Amino acid sequence: MPYATPYHHLMRSFDELLHEAELAHGHLCAGQILGVRLAMLGCQRLGIEDPRGADRKRLVTFIEIDRCATDAIGVVTGCRLGKRALKFRDWGKMAATFVDLNAPLESKGDTPAYKGIRIAALESSKQRARDLYPQIENKNQQQMLAYRELPDVELFSEQWVRVPIHPREMPGYKSTRITCEACGEGINYDRELRTEDRILCEACASPATRYYQPL
Ligand SMILES: [Zn+2]
Ligand SMILES: [Zn+2]
Repeated sequence: MPYATPYHHLMRSFDELLHEAELAHGHLCAGQILGVRLAMLGCQRLGIEDPRGADRKRLVTFIEIDRCATDAIGVVTGCRLGKRALKFRDWGKMAATFVDLNAPLESKGDTPAYKGIRIAALESSKQRARDLYPQIENKNQQQMLAYRELPDVELFSEQWVRVPIHPREMPGYKSTRITCEACGEGINYDRELRTEDRILCEACASPATRYYQPL
């Protein structure tokens, strides 16, 4: 096997995690393989060995796409939207940034910054899959095989980054609950807007920018 990857000793094995990702996602696909490897690499770079156990409060993950790999990244890191440890930035890019809350950097103002590693899937990885398995016509099959074997350097680019995270965006942040003076619905996490003499929710403060319109 020319591209045998020295799969990391840290955490669970690649195959175990992939199996869990398959169960969580509903099927096995190239995106699951890429996502598991991307997230394992992120944890490895930060020296986080047990992201879902002993190190579970160390990691916040920013994900730049809502696609198959997103689920796999959630499985490997244990970072979930419902725990505020998974932050979605809808950029349509197969990339994620893994932020180590144990690695604070010098920060300006009231927003602490942390060290993180941003990892993006290389555009050339699809071509590498075609090169490796030209005899396989099904692209998903082709990529599933190749993405297991290709070394990290042929799949991903990496960059150390500084990530500011305001205390109110942190997992476990306790906020007071405010009631919108227009619709009466509760607002958490300091998302209320103060206009003139009223406290309003986002939807009432700027109805034109709502993602829905009442029928
Ligand atoms: Zn999928
Ligand atoms: Zn409201």
